Amino acid sequence: GFKTGIVGLPNVGKSTLFNALTRTAAAQAANFPFCTIEPNVGEVAVPDARLDTLAKIAASKQIIPTRMTFVDIAGLVKGASKGEGLGNQFLANIRECDAIAHVLRCFEDGDVTHVEGRVNPVEDAETIETELMLADMESIEKRLQGLTRKVRGGDKEAIAQERLLKAALAALEQGQPARTVEVDAEDRKAWAMLQLLTSKPILYVCNVAEDEAATGNAHSDAVAKMAAEQGAASVVISARIEEEISQLDADEADMFLEELGLQEAGLDRLIRAGYELLGLQTYFTVGPKEARAWTIRAGTLAPQAAGVIHGDFERGFIRAETIAYDDFTALGGEQGAKDAGKMRVEGKSYLVKDGDVLHFLFNA
Ligand code: GDP
Repeated sequence: GFKTGIVGLPNVGKSTLFNALTRTAAAQAANFPFCTIEPNVGEVAVPDARLDTLAKIAASKQIIPTRMTFVDIAGLVKGASKGEGLGNQFLANIRECDAIAHVLRCFEDGDVTHVEGRVNPVEDAETIETELMLADMESIEKRLQGLTRKVRGGDKEAIAQERLLKAALAALEQGQPARTVEVDAEDRKAWAMLQLLTSKPILYVCNVAEDEAATGNAHSDAVAKMAAEQGAASVVISARIEEEISQLDADEADMFLEELGLQEAGLDRLIRAGYELLGLQTYFTVGPKEARAWTIRAGTLAPQAAGVIHGDFERGFIRAETIAYDDFTALGGEQGAKDAGKMRVEGKSYLVKDGDVLHFLFNA
């Protein structure tokens, strides 16, 4: 599955948020209990109102949302890149994630110690980013040394790697994260394999006080501005509120949200933002037994999309009966869409679109 690592300085609200994420009643109501993989790894259901609509139309007995993984990567501190404390282990944990959710303390509270003794989320973001950049530089230099012999021997793969590593290093030496490097389409795969910490997409999570959840505050505004300049995303959330909501049932949660002037739980926004950040899309399978959402990367072809359900579906792929979400809902479901000629038969080269309702035919 796709993993987002939750990072941030100590005492910014990471654990509070992680606990809320993984205990949320919504995940349980959707018959999709949070499952513990490790103490700090949690799978969450991706909220998607379209799935409920589809299930209603098809009178599906069960609704199964798609899910994504969050990893609570505690303990990232100044000096992590030098292996201080448990620094190296944490950096290794980040390396394995597809994206980073960076929690920033945007709440003032004299009772909660701030490691730097002041609340300044933009500087905190820089502190962590600096550690990640230093770690990248060190690992790049090591890797470049390791490549010299192969490069001299004319190894094509090594030469390509060296070129990409040098481009990343040049950016880092200018104080720029690796994600600012422009990578050609044919290099994308090799680039991703380098697993540079600062090449991962980033989402800033502004943890504000309870009474600022609906509005944000000056700190979260500053973060939003910084995020926009970097081409990153940001969301405003109150970890404390989310923790409370996660313990309520759905009706109580709705009432609580209304009192607070919130349209939906911050966690739902966070999960969706993480999903978008990863460039993920959803397709659906819908029948009387179940309505289910499946996750693919944008740009996935029909056979590989089928492979998410089962390897046999991909190997024996014949075709995909396809109905766009809007057609399915507007025409009252599968039969209506068929009758109106809106069910397309797509082959191996079909690029699956977000919201497609698919039925795969395959050779067993
Ligand atoms: P972590 O070290 O980043 O995992 O931070 P924790 O989640 O353990 O939170 C550190 C402390 O800050 C705890 O006492 C939390 O209750 C508190 N905290 C977290 N979010 C908020 C918030 O929005 N407002 C206030 N006042 N305290 C918070």
